[in-house]
Amino acid sequence: MEITTAKYLISNIDVKACPKPDKPEYAFIGRSNVGKSSLINMLTRNAKLAKTSGSPGKTQLINHFLINNAFYIVDLPGYGFAKRSKVQREEWEKMIDAYLKERTNLVTVFVLVDSRHSPQNLDLAFLRKLGEWGVPFNIAFTKADKITQREAAKNKSLFVNAMKKEWEYIPRTFMTSAEKFHGRNDMLGYIGELNEE
Ligand code: GDP
Repeated sequence: MEITTAKYLISNIDVKACPKPDKPEYAFIGRSNVGKSSLINMLTRNAKLAKTSGSPGKTQLINHFLINNAFYIVDLPGYGFAKRSKVQREEWEKMIDAYLKERTNLVTVFVLVDSRHSPQNLDLAFLRKLGEWGVPFNIAFTKADKITQREAAKNKSLFVNAMKKEWEYIPRTFMTSAEKFHGRNDMLGYIGELNEE
């Protein structure tokens, strides 16, 4: 699968205002600053599509992009931004909860995990929520160029092992670098497969 066109459509607070759920949809989420915007820009080969910013936690909206006039990529606001107030965190939770439960065309959520770190409770807790809500997901490890292949592989297997303590099924995983365009073919190939189902 190749991305030929990528167009920004709309940003919403309310899932009800999102585009009609008439095309398959792939959502991206992760801890603030995990490299989500960079990854979306890498996949679409559009350096400016999703905003990358030095200040984490800025995007608080559900952002829809139309890809190849055939499916949506959705940039969801990240979690775990320390400077957010309790009220802001509750608003985030309400919005994400509604989005994940109500978006009927959602095929899978790409959960982004920083490949430089050992397993983080915040990420594991988010996966638990997806499990409770019955939302399909897979995992994309980010920023792999920042460490050695060996370290990235080690952190990935630590994460998978942490998951195995509570999950029977381990989903697809991707090792990625937005900087080096690594993981792009794998991720697009996977989206292509799912689109055909
Ligand atoms: P977001 O908040 O999750 O959308 O994260 P961004 O995409 O804005 O990235 C956060 C920071 O990490 C930025 O300074 C990016 O340049 C950097 N970054 C993101 N992805 C990569 C990557 O694959 N490799 C490297 N070296 N830096 C990255």
